[in-house]
Amino acid sequence: MLEPSTPVQFVKGIGPRLAEVLAAKGIATVDDLLHYLPFRYEDRLNPRSVAELRAGEMATVIAEVRNSGLFRTRRMPIFQLTVGQGPTKLKCLWFNAPYLQDRFQPGQMLALYGKVEEDRDGNLQIIQPQFEVLGDINEEGGADEAEKKAAASLEIGRIVPIYESTGQGKLTPRWFRRTIRFALENLSPDLPDPIPAAVRAHLSLVSPREALFQVHWPDAGESFTDLQSSRTPAHIRLIFDELFFIELGLELKRREQKAQTGISFQLTPGVREAIKKILPFHPTAAQKRVLKEIATDMQMSCPMRRLLQGDVGSGKTIVAFQAAIIAIENGYQVALMAPTEILAQQHYFSARQILERAGYRIVLLTGSLEQDRKRDIRRHIAEGNAQLIIGTHALIQDRVEFKNLGLVVVDEQHRFGVMQRLKLMKKTDDDAKTAEPDVLVMTATPIPRTLALTLYGDLDLSVLDELPPGRTPVVTRCVQDERAPEVWDFVGKQIAAGHQAYVVYPVIEEDEENELKAARQMHRELREKIFPSLHVGLLHGRLDAEEKEHVMREFQRGKIEILVATTVIEVGVDVPNATVMVIEHADRFGLAQLHQLRGRIGRGAAKSYCVLMRGSKVSEEGERRLDAMVRSNDGFQIAELDLELRGPGEFFGTKQAGIPSFRVANIIRDRQLLEAAKREAAFVISGPNAEVSKDEIDRALREMRSRWALSYGLVEVG
Ligand code: ADP
Ligand code: MG
Repeated sequence: MLEPSTPVQFVKGIGPRLAEVLAAKGIATVDDLLHYLPFRYEDRLNPRSVAELRAGEMATVIAEVRNSGLFRTRRMPIFQLTVGQGPTKLKCLWFNAPYLQDRFQPGQMLALYGKVEEDRDGNLQIIQPQFEVLGDINEEGGADEAEKKAAASLEIGRIVPIYESTGQGKLTPRWFRRTIRFALENLSPDLPDPIPAAVRAHLSLVSPREALFQVHWPDAGESFTDLQSSRTPAHIRLIFDELFFIELGLELKRREQKAQTGISFQLTPGVREAIKKILPFHPTAAQKRVLKEIATDMQMSCPMRRLLQGDVGSGKTIVAFQAAIIAIENGYQVALMAPTEILAQQHYFSARQILERAGYRIVLLTGSLEQDRKRDIRRHIAEGNAQLIIGTHALIQDRVEFKNLGLVVVDEQHRFGVMQRLKLMKKTDDDAKTAEPDVLVMTATPIPRTLALTLYGDLDLSVLDELPPGRTPVVTRCVQDERAPEVWDFVGKQIAAGHQAYVVYPVIEEDEENELKAARQMHRELREKIFPSLHVGLLHGRLDAEEKEHVMREFQRGKIEILVATTVIEVGVDVPNATVMVIEHADRFGLAQLHQLRGRIGRGAAKSYCVLMRGSKVSEEGERRLDAMVRSNDGFQIAELDLELRGPGEFFGTKQAGIPSFRVANIIRDRQLLEAAKREAAFVISGPNAEVSKDEIDRALREMRSRWALSYGLVEVG
């Protein structure tokens, strides 16, 4: 008998070497293997007859090999295969595939899957279909007749699961089919269901065992459409299951945070006055509303855990400064953490402009400071002299002793995922010896609200959904490289009118391989040849911090008119006088990145222009990104498209950011199940009650903890 936790090695046909290959794909246990779902299904119960195929459709065809041959054209060898059903025939072609020559023998039965097309003479054909030689068990060798028959019965006359093969020779769809089948047949008969009965009833969930069987080997009556769109009861059970235990963890975390003792900041008339005094402009209605939400949290005795979401340029910084004043006026220290040193420096400049006038003591803690200086600053912080401490995440997390930290602001959170954030907060938790500091995280990633609520389920959400007044939308144009002289001409005119410009490149240094124009070389060219009478600065990640600071300051002061840069300026940089953003090789950048870059302009009253330069060869996806940028200024729209183009894993930066990587769920496709999971998780945690027993809750929590520990390495949750 196989238990879900049994290592895959003990499944028939998996030796230590294959086990290693599978482990690299995240398949370590029987449970992992059973959650390796088919990515599509073939209807081999009612396969299409060749006579009824129509051009343009995707179809599964079962037919017999008639003849095949390789012929050479001037450009490449083409392998042609003719299959038939009775008198009707169908042609299949593969390009550059001479290795198929010895693959087929007349009389073999094939299952073929691909897009049906018409050739020049109006005959139907399928180009490069996926195929399987049916009953071809000898491939794996050593099978007897009975096994052959049993194997064949898995492949015809039913709905057949198709698994993604892994590129490793042996791990074909057929291999997965047999191995998973074996694992299912030997699966321990009593799989406990860790989801409370009431929740199962709310969603009419089938049992885990039934779900696993049906998702791999659906009954003949199952809706084919539901199968292909992952909407069968079996799929829903498995997807909900995965999301439910993630949401349960987040929900529990949220409850625990609420139960901790934080600081009740006082909002006296004096504090209100101090907050108002610093404002260099009238706040927008959205800024007022959000500040109120934050202030309300800060007054409560449980610690604030709030996410502030606002598109680039919506004015998050000033709101953070206002929150900082509440804490400082109450006698506490504030830490403001930025993801990059440039951004930390910039916050430091604006903090000094806005807050130092009011007499607050501000320090900047950067990695490039000399040891002595760092030690000094650390002492200031420990003794409580420094009231606002600005630095990068790494620095502030790294053994800084605060005298009495009251508020932590984490800027541009979009570089961090849920899991990292949990760790980050954990860290601050440890530091506080008495009360928990409040935490405000700020992000410019316009995640759709429902997703934000569920993915950041442990945080409360505030949204700045209004731009400061007087902004005219940035005009965005896409321009071919040949027209660069016109673009430089335009940049020159904007500068003559008193404005400034950014010119962004995808790389710092030229490189023979990729032939991309690079920041360093173009900086020279722009400075010496194109704008010899102007000040052209250069900013990139390889400069040391002092140089970066110098360049940024010169640009901020208007001493530098044109700033040549890499994406180091992507996040947060704020120079309202800059009205032009030229991005070379724009198709090489991600959509979110382009939107962030464009967010650097259009920050003042003057009209701003974003110029996306492109060559003649641009990938299809690149075209779609450029097109989206020209069409829309709306961060939310762009984010939706970005999600679509890149998929959720990439979008949220699963790899660097430690967002849970899902086994079966897809948070875009499964949004509604995600919401249901959040709702049900909250319902379960609020128990026990008439519907959910204490035992059930304990069982669900145990399951949640073991999954979080296994998948995300976070034992401390709960
Ligand atoms: P982000 O939300 O992208 O961090 P910032 O906080 O950098 O945005 O603000 C963008 C720009 O808008 C800054 O120059 C800031 O001074 C200005 N700003 C913010 N709020 C207002 C307001 N209510 N009225 C006018 N300008 C504002
Ligand atoms: Mg910002």
